Parts: sequence; C-alpha cells; structure tokens
Amino acid sequence: MNKKIRSLTASCLCNGVKMIIKGEFRPIINCHCSQCLRTHGNFASYTSILEENIFFKSKKTLKWFNSSSKAKRGFCNKCGASIFFKRSGSRAISLSAGMIKNPTKLKTVSNIFCYNKSDYYKIYDKLPKFKKYTNT
Ligand SMILES: [Zn+2]
Repeated sequence: MNKKIRSLTASCLCNGVKMIIKGEFRPIINCHCSQCLRTHGNFASYTSILEENIFFKSKKTLKWFNSSSKAKRGFCNKCGASIFFKRSGSRAISLSAGMIKNPTKLKTVSNIFCYNKSDYYKIYDKLPKFKKYTNT
C-alpha cells in the first residue's frame, strides 16, 4: 500500500481546539449512524489518524462526551464543533474532515451505516455503501 505521510492543520470554528497532525490519514468515510446525525446535525465525514500523531496547539475548549459504553466524542464547548470520535482501547481516533484546513488532498471513499440513515436525504454519490463500519 502506498502510505502517504502528511502534515495537516485542523481547528474548530473558534480555534479553541487547534492541532497539527503528522502521519497517515485514512481516506474520508461518511458515517450515517444515528449518533453522528445527532451530534453533527447531519451525516459525519471522518478521517482516522493515530492519536499519538496529534500535536495540540490549543485544546482548552475540548470536552468529551461518552456516547456509548465503547466510544466517546470530542467537541468544542465554546463553538460547538463536533471534532473527534474515539473508540475505547484504540490507538486510532476519527477526526471530522471539515476541521482540516483546505486543501486536505484527501478523498471520500465510502458510506457506512447507510441503512440507519434518516429519510430526509438520499446518498447520491456512487461510492460503496456499507451496513456497518469498515475501513476499506
Ligand atoms: Zn471551538
């Protein structure tokens, strides 16, 4: 596999949470699960990185919400941005793609939890659709 090491900057709207990430970025996956809909206001677009590759410039407004027994979500308690999704015990952490400074040079590759999505929108892209999480 062609592994691309990048260095990208990411921040929330108010810059209370700001970071540089150095390393590999998983391509973007759109998640349509009901938890993402409720925390993001719509489906979520996430990359995934190793948590150890995050270098925070600021995290003074970063708060965590235990969204299930297996995962927590990181958000900014000032501007309300939905920033992270973290499965307990994993070295990887999902980062909302919209936090990353443009150009990201990342590509969206698939949709997950498609059959749990709300009925007010359709998935128009031709990307693969999966019932559950998959990183391929
Ligand atoms: Zn913020």
